Amino acid sequence: MSRVYFTTARGTRWDYRYSVLGRFERMLGECGLLKFEKGEYVAVKTHFGSEGAHRVVRPSFLGKVTNAVKSAGGKPFVTDTVRIMGVDYLEVANQNGINHLSVGAPVILADGPFGKDSLIISAPGDVLGEIAVASAIHDSSAMVVCSHIKGHIQAGYAGAIKNLAMGGVSAAHREGGWKKGRGHMHCNGEVPLSWEAEVCTYCLQCENVCPKGAIKFVDEKLVQDKSQCWFCGRCARVCPSGALTLPVNNDTFQKSLAESAGAVLSTFKPGKVIYINFMFEIQPECDCMPSCDTPMLQDQGILISDDLVAIEQATVDILRKGSPLPGSVAEERECKPGDDVLAMVNPRNYMLCIEHAERLGLGRREYELVEVQ
Ligand code: SF4
Ligand code: SF4
Repeated sequence: MSRVYFTTARGTRWDYRYSVLGRFERMLGECGLLKFEKGEYVAVKTHFGSEGAHRVVRPSFLGKVTNAVKSAGGKPFVTDTVRIMGVDYLEVANQNGINHLSVGAPVILADGPFGKDSLIISAPGDVLGEIAVASAIHDSSAMVVCSHIKGHIQAGYAGAIKNLAMGGVSAAHREGGWKKGRGHMHCNGEVPLSWEAEVCTYCLQCENVCPKGAIKFVDEKLVQDKSQCWFCGRCARVCPSGALTLPVNNDTFQKSLAESAGAVLSTFKPGKVIYINFMFEIQPECDCMPSCDTPMLQDQGILISDDLVAIEQATVDILRKGSPLPGSVAEERECKPGDDVLAMVNPRNYMLCIEHAERLGLGRREYELVEVQ
């Protein structure tokens, strides 16, 4: 049975050592999981957010991680893969407070400034086949995966598996294109975007949300530039009227997330990847989106483990006991304490992804929770 270390989001005493940050600092040492070769590069993988989505893992916590990595002999760098083109994404990181000074380590784009530095790696399982793993992650020998826990419009739940699966790979490969990148998971094959003029309200949210400027309205008709499209599916997911659709089999999508995470992990030796799940500001949507909503569940705390599947199972178990928050989409959906708020807000079978990860041998769902007070 794997151990999952937990500390609550509550402040337990008026003393730094018992603040969440103080307990997290202690937990990083007490868990005994951060062990590195002297001078080995350690990728600290997080999500930089977006221009309008500020609910990322805070730099103060990332700074504690990089300090702990240095104390354990490693050389940390903080990283994410390109979500909007070029170095603009580093500007987003800086805007969200993530920079060398705040986190105590260099901040770099794992797949280069244009999102094209990646290597095609075989994925386990029967859905994905191959995926383009970001080169800085591929070439690191150790990694600490720092995940902001939230809901997700397509996945239902977004935690460590999703952080690896989508965040450890490029949107598109230099030669293989979007079919070897995130688009392969999002739409699983070449299915066209479909648009119905009669249903469209011309709200332009699809155009605004597109990271590639691949959608334009010309003479009141939607025009998709396929040569630019990453097939991320965002435009269809945000369409409020159902005018724009991209048919996706959600079960296949859930499995492909686990398989992509498996491909990323296959580039590390066993025991070289540690997971930290931050259950704060649990908003309904992904940190990639151009805006964020109010949190739907109360803050729960932080989990650390060296077992990907165990930490994901522990996270969803804790979230299911969490309090839905007033003034959020959880209230609109009439969620009550004890409800599966994730599934009520975004009705997806997110457990399929966690179960598939276990089947692929990425960890075990059985765990022992060790609380750090
Ligand atoms: S799927 Fe939609 S949002 Fe994504 S790149 Fe293509 S047009 Fe843009
Ligand atoms: S998001 Fe949907 S309704 Fe709005 S402009 Fe695009 S297709 Fe039309």
